[in-house]
Amino acid sequence: MLATVPHEAIHVPSPIERLNELAFNLWFSWNQDALQLFESMDPVKWKSSGHNPVRLLQNLDTPDLQALSQNSAFLERYQQVMSRFDMYMNDPAWYQTNHPQEDFVQIAYFSAEFGFHESLPIYSGGLGILAGDHIKSSSDLGIPLAGIGLLYKKGYFTQKIDASGSQQSELFPYDFNQLPIRPVMQNDQQLTVSIDVPGRTIHLNIWAVTVGRNLVYLLDSDHAANDEEDKTLTSQLYGGNQDTRIAQEIVLGIGGVKTLRALGIYPNVYHINEGHAAFLTLERLKELLHLGLSFHVAVETVRSATVFTTHTPVPAGHDTFSVGMIEHYLGPLFSEIPKHKQSIIALGLDHKSGQFNMTHLAMNTAGLRNGVSKLHGQVSREMFKEFHGHIDASEVPIGSITNGVHLDTWTAPAWKELFDRFLPGTWRAEQSNHHQWAQVEVIPDESIWKVHQQLKEDLVRHARHSLMEQRKRNGESEERIEEVRNYLNPKALTIGFARRFATYKRANLIFNDLYRLRKIINDPDRPVQFIFAGKAHPADYPGQDIIREIYRISQLKEFLGKIVILENYDIHMARYLVQGVDVWLNNPRRPLEASGTSGQKAAMNGVLNFSVLDGWWEEGYNGSNGWAIGTTGAADWAAQEKENTKAIYHLLENEIIPLYYNQGDLPHQWIQRMKRSVQTLSPVYNTHRMVQDYTNLTYLPTAKRARLFVADHYDVATKVADYKQFIRSNWHQVRIISIDDHSDKSTSEVPLDEIAPSTKEITAQIQFGPIWPQDTAVEVIYYEENDESWEQKMILMTPIGELLDQTQSFQATIPSHLIHGPHFSIRVRPISTNFAHSFELSLVTSTLS
Ligand SMILES: *Cc1c(COP(=O)(O)O)cnc(C)c1O
Repeated sequence: MLATVPHEAIHVPSPIERLNELAFNLWFSWNQDALQLFESMDPVKWKSSGHNPVRLLQNLDTPDLQALSQNSAFLERYQQVMSRFDMYMNDPAWYQTNHPQEDFVQIAYFSAEFGFHESLPIYSGGLGILAGDHIKSSSDLGIPLAGIGLLYKKGYFTQKIDASGSQQSELFPYDFNQLPIRPVMQNDQQLTVSIDVPGRTIHLNIWAVTVGRNLVYLLDSDHAANDEEDKTLTSQLYGGNQDTRIAQEIVLGIGGVKTLRALGIYPNVYHINEGHAAFLTLERLKELLHLGLSFHVAVETVRSATVFTTHTPVPAGHDTFSVGMIEHYLGPLFSEIPKHKQSIIALGLDHKSGQFNMTHLAMNTAGLRNGVSKLHGQVSREMFKEFHGHIDASEVPIGSITNGVHLDTWTAPAWKELFDRFLPGTWRAEQSNHHQWAQVEVIPDESIWKVHQQLKEDLVRHARHSLMEQRKRNGESEERIEEVRNYLNPKALTIGFARRFATYKRANLIFNDLYRLRKIINDPDRPVQFIFAGKAHPADYPGQDIIREIYRISQLKEFLGKIVILENYDIHMARYLVQGVDVWLNNPRRPLEASGTSGQKAAMNGVLNFSVLDGWWEEGYNGSNGWAIGTTGAADWAAQEKENTKAIYHLLENEIIPLYYNQGDLPHQWIQRMKRSVQTLSPVYNTHRMVQDYTNLTYLPTAKRARLFVADHYDVATKVADYKQFIRSNWHQVRIISIDDHSDKSTSEVPLDEIAPSTKEITAQIQFGPIWPQDTAVEVIYYEENDESWEQKMILMTPIGELLDQTQSFQATIPSHLIHGPHFSIRVRPISTNFAHSFELSLVTSTLS
């Protein structure tokens, strides 16, 4: 019987029974009227439920629910929300309108974490929130995508900061029956899948989260039939040791594919969101090998349907396991396909370290790969150069799709009201179109300042509340608790810094010169204050030291109430911060921030970014929509630190503070910058644009290739595999025999002061052995100086004359000043229209080597 996600769950009186549907669809999390509807049912219980509508409905008493179901004002709002919800669920969206032919596309998106809303704590930070926002925009745009993730019994840790400034991490087991998720049912039982690990079988419960029109399936190992130890396998996100880690990744990748099969889902696009999920390719390989495909054909088939996004240039961010661990944990898989064990290990082996690297596995099994900003794409191409032989980094087939954030989730309702009033009615659906945002110009300065000021007051209230609760819990004196009431000034220039306290993010950089900082902060006419927040991984001791340092400085007399650090940074607190501060500070070591997304959230709320030109900001900054902290390219951390510190103080003192306090009735110039920020950054750094890019650049081409590869009994996959094998075994016969570059002639003919660029003909003779010349590209490669760097140029040579004795001549027209040897080289590389990119075979014959 087909698996289903049942609707009935909590008993609600029939006039409002669809609240059940609403509570179990994360659509509520980005729709203010839905959130307000729940809140209005019982504001106290709403708060104590952690903004979780499922818990709210469970905690409401029957008489209260009865009363609400007869309250006409409530009913009216309920109807309004439900009709908006129905419209959302049923109206054709971007994908249906723009890609009506592509109804065969089915995408599976695998991620170790998903951050949708504070009511579903299965995320730790940026990666998870990106995944959550990806699913939300996919739903908004009507993209046929299902998510696969893990359901962590204890989520990620809750952070407390004690009276000495030390982070305390706490874990609470969640009751799955109180989360906005539902069991997937089959034959009146929860659907389960099982995976084999050495010596035993692990059973996994399958749950589903509904996110608008899309479903995300979550796997959890707390199953009665499991060993005690296995029951806790999925209990913590990024918890445990290497053994936990590899087992979780096997559950995600292998269990995830099995889940799709149990549901009858056979995607033609598998998106690996960061290396954690890369084992999914091994389960698919095994399936294909069981069908009788050869290893090479199976790999080509898997590759044709796989997209990989890498998220970090920090080496420690790439998961690695010893080969011994791989042999042990994947033992059961290898025992099913024993002949292929070494070939499979080779797919993930990093020859330099001798370790099995999940990023290598993903790189080797994904047809298309991308980084998450232009700069990160560039850095990744450098990092993975060795994957493709001796080619220029610019040619390494790793693209980039810059991250974004789900605009409806992260933009304050008050801002959205302004957009509703002043922007075209299509601004939300067509948010990635710049023209929709031009009208931000006409929003009156007073309206913007009023909205911003209100959000700042909300933040200050929230921060004070959080600090008071913290001090009460830490058993501090009444005086210490009471003094928080005067902390933070809603009129002062407020700078926010919140993110994971990884050391490369350098949260303490601003403290490099405390004397100078003291002067800045304590200027009576132009006060400045800082709000910090963030968690450090429990095993990251240097990160926790930074928390202690910030805490200690926040307790110095001259900074009291002007520098604060808030505990337990999560989605809920992030909303207050990115909407309520004036300036969002970000000063990582460049280029270690692959993209960063919190600054994007800030930008769409008119909060000005003040950031190192790293990640997304390198492409987002335009000179007038925030501030750039300059950085030299060199990875000399000490030099960077010095330079960045100087720039930060200088910009604060000479630009940011004067601009903010340059107000008569209103800081018009500041507001002008806020408008620039919203206008130029909102249309680009949202997940609608991002998911549209993924669809056009990766999902659609991948789905088409995948369909092509499997058709007619894997005909194309077989041809590609055979072709690659043939080319590999014969490539050594490809030789560049001679080059005639006519340079002696042309240099004598062309006067040195010639201004118009002149050209010359060159020819080359190439011996191919049994390889068809048509299966290769013959190219002239040279370099041209471009600003401060050298850019590789390429001219395709065309065949002339006949193929004789397996030898073919080629010609090209090139700039006449180029001389073979010192100025240009010629190379031959294999090509195929069935390749996903130019260097699927890392075979290049060149006059260089
Ligand atoms: C957006 C967000 C992040 C990621 O922010 P970065 O700028 O990428 O570091 C982390 N945690 C929370 C709670 C967020 O909302």
